[in-house]
Amino acid sequence: MDLDQRQQATGRDRSFSPRGLVAMNEPDEILTPRRAYIKRNGTPAALNRRLIVMSNRAPIRIVREGREERLEPTVGGVGTTFLRLLECNGGLWIAWSGGQKTPAPKLMPPGEPRFKIVFAPLSEQDISDYYHGMCNRGLWPLMHFMTPKCHFSTQQWSRYVRVNQAFARIACEEVAARDVLWVQDFHLALVPHLVRQQCRELPIGIFWHVPFPPEQLMRILPWREEFLHGMLGADVVGFHTQSYATHFLNCCHNILHLDVSHERGEVILGSRRVRAAPFPLGIPADFFSSLAASPRVAGRAQRIRRSLGTPVMVLGVDRLDYTKGILERLLGFERFLEQNPSWHRRVTLVLIAVPSRTKVTDYANLKRELDELVGHVVGRFSSDGWVPLRYLYTQFGAEELVAYYRAADVALLTPLRDGMNLVAKEFVASRVRDDGVLILSEFAGAAEELSEALLVNPYNADEIAERLREAVEMAPAEQSLRMRTMRNKVEANNLERWSESFLAELAEEGEFAQGSPEAVRV
Ligand code: UDP
Repeated sequence: MDLDQRQQATGRDRSFSPRGLVAMNEPDEILTPRRAYIKRNGTPAALNRRLIVMSNRAPIRIVREGREERLEPTVGGVGTTFLRLLECNGGLWIAWSGGQKTPAPKLMPPGEPRFKIVFAPLSEQDISDYYHGMCNRGLWPLMHFMTPKCHFSTQQWSRYVRVNQAFARIACEEVAARDVLWVQDFHLALVPHLVRQQCRELPIGIFWHVPFPPEQLMRILPWREEFLHGMLGADVVGFHTQSYATHFLNCCHNILHLDVSHERGEVILGSRRVRAAPFPLGIPADFFSSLAASPRVAGRAQRIRRSLGTPVMVLGVDRLDYTKGILERLLGFERFLEQNPSWHRRVTLVLIAVPSRTKVTDYANLKRELDELVGHVVGRFSSDGWVPLRYLYTQFGAEELVAYYRAADVALLTPLRDGMNLVAKEFVASRVRDDGVLILSEFAGAAEELSEALLVNPYNADEIAERLREAVEMAPAEQSLRMRTMRNKVEANNLERWSESFLAELAEEGEFAQGSPEAVRV
């Protein structure tokens, strides 16, 4: 598909001709694995620059079988999009392998190399202080506005700086003229500044996959100035929503005393301008809708429904994380059952909780509390073979998960704070019959786009109960109108559109020259 066709396919109504983005046109010759891959997934827009992607973790797993070593791409999500971009543009991915061993650089895809993965070395101490400490116990709760859960220590901050320096060093060693660097997420906030010091002309972008807190909360970070200056090394700082971008601009103004323009979404640093703007993350909507429409998934969805034995199924899906409001959801469900005895025996809540950070105390405590609350609700309301709640502590693959999305009548997603909440968008994309109801926390980034959902304050159990009643009683015509509108949005603002629009903005800010893609260098 060329760029014009893609514009039509995604229903864009404004012209989209970013400087620096050109369509990749290749004669359709022999179907090599790469061509087969692209044929299956569509061709992403190409840059006229070599792309360097940097993230904490790589989107591949190294599987060892005896002496043999295999590379397996992790399936789905943002990682897949970057893999596709790199396959089309050539380039480099810099990431931590996820373990203490630092593998040699890998050429990808094996057998038909188009790009290289270089692994950043992390020692045991780095993993403990940078990753488990500063990232998971310091920055994660801070970014999600959960300041009482924040633990900061100078030792962990020093490791965070060291690891960011190590990533930046690799980028500076590898970078060539006419490259572009796209850094991912809060793990690597200092990299843009560290790289900028050495590579003045390099276009650098950073995308923030989590929320960004308001200035008053950001102030609790003891190293707030260094942190913000780190991000400001980029030309473009992308967030999921306008409100996160606004928080960032306020921090730059009030903490760093820099000039900002809210109107233009810019921080002014002498002759440099840093653009801070929303780029709401999308999902591969086609992937979810075709999976949901497949006979296998439809059949599996029917079997799930039959096993419940109630006419209505409500679904919750999350990683078991304290930001997801899972306890609050259960309290809201309990209130619904208290207030609506006529719905007893007619509704089941299916709770899928994916194990996450199980060794961290806060997470282990949450698991214990959830187990107790599930037991309490089940014990209080179950009767004559009806169990109001199914609790699945597991991680499903895409096909099984989509079967649950398709089987449900209502998705109840109540994060206390969430950068985006992709599950909400995946549920919508999977509703191929335009039925079903989405109840969504007003504190999820997705709520800005999915305004046809029933929005709820997750801290208010009465409101959750009320929204649940509205949802289970909603007329099919209203369900269909709301779901169709949301589905159109999710399809139009899909994952590919997200990466295209971010790179287009970076091309504008970085002032790439127009032109054809460079010959690919690996
Ligand atoms: N997910 C999955 N298997 C499961 C449950 C969830 O693969 O059993 C995936 C889901 O498809 C989604 C991601 O986990 O893409 C969760 O993303 P989200 O933005 O909702 O939350 P996060 O965990 O990133 O905070």
